[in-house]
Amino acid sequence: MSTRVLVLGAGFGGLETCARLEDLLGDDVEITLIDKAPSFVFGFSKLDVMFGRKQPDDVRLRYEDYARPRVQFRNETITAIDPVARTATTNAGVYEADVLVVALGADYDLAATPGLAELGREFYSTAGAFAARDTLAAFKGGDVVIGVCGPGFKCPPAPNEAAFLLHDQLVERGIRDRSSITVVVPMGVPLPPSPELSQAILRRYAERGITFVGGHRVLSLEASAGSGRHAALDDGARLPFDLFLGIPIHRVPAVVAASGLAENGWIPVDKGSAATRFPDVYAVGDVTSVGTPKAGVFAERAADAMVDKIVARIRGEAEPPGYDGTGACFVELGAGQVGHIAVDFFADPSRPKGWFTEPGDDNTTAKAQFGAERLARWFGRGA
Ligand SMILES: Cc1cc2nc3c(=O)[nH]c(=O)nc-3n(C[C@H](O)[C@H](O)[C@H](O)COP(=O)(O)OP(=O)(O)OC[C@H]3O[C@@H](n4cnc5c(N)ncnc54)[C@H](O)[C@@H]3O)c2cc1C
Repeated sequence: MSTRVLVLGAGFGGLETCARLEDLLGDDVEITLIDKAPSFVFGFSKLDVMFGRKQPDDVRLRYEDYARPRVQFRNETITAIDPVARTATTNAGVYEADVLVVALGADYDLAATPGLAELGREFYSTAGAFAARDTLAAFKGGDVVIGVCGPGFKCPPAPNEAAFLLHDQLVERGIRDRSSITVVVPMGVPLPPSPELSQAILRRYAERGITFVGGHRVLSLEASAGSGRHAALDDGARLPFDLFLGIPIHRVPAVVAASGLAENGWIPVDKGSAATRFPDVYAVGDVTSVGTPKAGVFAERAADAMVDKIVARIRGEAEPPGYDGTGACFVELGAGQVGHIAVDFFADPSRPKGWFTEPGDDNTTAKAQFGAERLARWFGRGA
């Protein structure tokens, strides 16, 4: 009898889980994959659209094109998860599983930051990033604050990447000299695991006149008739802005919060296997508190290690060692330059270690290949 695996969420973690399961188990597995969205969009593609480097239709990987032969894709909204019974309820039915994988990512809580929805522009959701493109196109120059509102957030390089791409765009439009750019992040330096990359970013900030405010987050946005609009930081500082590009507070999706899977905000898992405290229920990616940053590359590598463990168990083989907490990604540094950062989070969790590679043509090519390879592999079609 084949094993029924139910994968909730078709993002980085869910798509990789399905691809690897199908590759390794073939006919020995029945996979169902559920997602409510019409398409998957890479995080870095959101920035490409926001800064006019690509069109929305260029970056939407539509689930209607999903063609993995042994995976049943369901375009439905999950409304309940029962981790004891290993079932998920959607707007269209109830699904049962032998193995349940939760890969539902992180949602954004705009309401938790007063003024953000009314006075700012979040650019982390697909809709928000695409709408920010129009906001930026209409921007006539002024003070821009790129600000993080919560303690943890997806893709820690992204606010810095946004600052560099914004600088380039404002220069190109001839309005940089009447604009300021300030970046507010909760970490003391841009990317703590890599002093080299942090220095590379701060050096470029200094060259471009971009202000870095580290170790703080934005608590609220305020507007008053007399003094204009301000971002209020956690130390009482108030930064004036004409345009606020925000990263909202992250939360587990409501359906996960209601399931009992989460503790202290996120789903705790065994870091090597991605197992939750419920038998045969696993979780990967942004929805967990595994100890790596919320980034696609970590979700993908955790998914691979989890699948290898599941497959070994099904086959009665010795279990492989499990996820090692490593991952690597590309970082936009402005002027068309792309750096590369590899990080190990588990070797010494108190001091994650990073390795930075300066920009070069090979990074730019490799970043383009990264997306094309995943499109081909995950969706079962040519790049
Ligand atoms: C601007 C930006 C740039 C980024 N750049 C990078 C980068 O360069 N490299 C990198 O590795 N990461 C990057 N990231 C982070 C990356 O996008 C995420 O960390 C990654 O997608 C997480 O994968 P996941 O599988 O955990 O969740 P997701 O990919 O978010 O997938 C979760 C899925 O669950 C679905 N879902 C949620 N709730 C329900 C429900 N109730 N019913 C049905 N479906 C549901 C969603 O529709 C979604 O498709 C970036 C993020 C942003 C915002």
